[in-house]
Amino acid sequence: MKRIFLTEVLMRDGLQMEAAFVPTATKVALVDRLSALGFPRIEVTSFVSRTAVPALADAEEVFARITRRPGTIYNALAMTPRGAERAIAAGVDEIGLVVSASEAHNRANVGRDIRSSFSGFGDIAAMVRDHGPTLSGAIAMSFGCPIEGDVPEARVFSIIEDYLALGIRHIGLADTTGMGYPPQVAALCERARTRFPEAVFGLHLHDTRGLGLANVVAALEVGIERFDACIGGLGGCPFAPGASGNICTEDLVHMLGLMGYDCGVDLDALLGIRSELADAVGHALSGHVGVAGPRYRPVDCATPS
Ligand code: ZN
Repeated sequence: MKRIFLTEVLMRDGLQMEAAFVPTATKVALVDRLSALGFPRIEVTSFVSRTAVPALADAEEVFARITRRPGTIYNALAMTPRGAERAIAAGVDEIGLVVSASEAHNRANVGRDIRSSFSGFGDIAAMVRDHGPTLSGAIAMSFGCPIEGDVPEARVFSIIEDYLALGIRHIGLADTTGMGYPPQVAALCERARTRFPEAVFGLHLHDTRGLGLANVVAALEVGIERFDACIGGLGGCPFAPGASGNICTEDLVHMLGLMGYDCGVDLDALLGIRSELADAVGHALSGHVGVAGPRYRPVDCATPS
């Protein structure tokens, strides 16, 4: 059975836009639950300005209090050398860097152009070179931008080259606002894998326009084996009006299981987190399997109807 490598992004991407502050103790308990579920990689938080992202202002405290499961990669985002310093001090395993393939979105998101973002990344790469955490790099808006429209493939490839030049091999192609569609996703992933065989590509997809899982299937067909997802389909982007969130982890695990892939995560245990998560954020969650239940539950067979 082919293994799929999942990253659960609930704690960072999922919570960063939530209006209600999720208490630190609840965050710590959720990270520990995700660790116990067996996710190989967990996006725990983001070391960015506490005023810009108040929902994640407790990044240091969360990292100090979680229980590290051996083998799990505890990732946190950092956009600047100052953020990376904080992440290193907190003991993260992997710092996630993010740049947008859209200049307009990069300026809106981090207040600088793509070049300036990379000059900071160069400083971060130097900081971690000898004894720091590993680095991964994401490319937001890889499949189009609601501000700029289609993003040239050449720009995505040039950013991949820049990440590789810094020694960063794990690269995430992100569809931050759900602009991607299956043939486009398959084509970009296939060409990227062919051109950069030294890179390890993953996908970060949003279900903004209902194409999230269709895009996963398209990517699987061209050999992508790493996906980000968020329990309850939380998350969003402030620059995509009405944007819904990340692809839903429960729906993804359910589908991949039916397709014969092993995610290493128990679906029923995953579904068990939903109600406490809904309580923590104070509203209903997205996703289908969490509402309808898995398509096959042995216990249902014994229930007369
Ligand atoms: Zn996302």
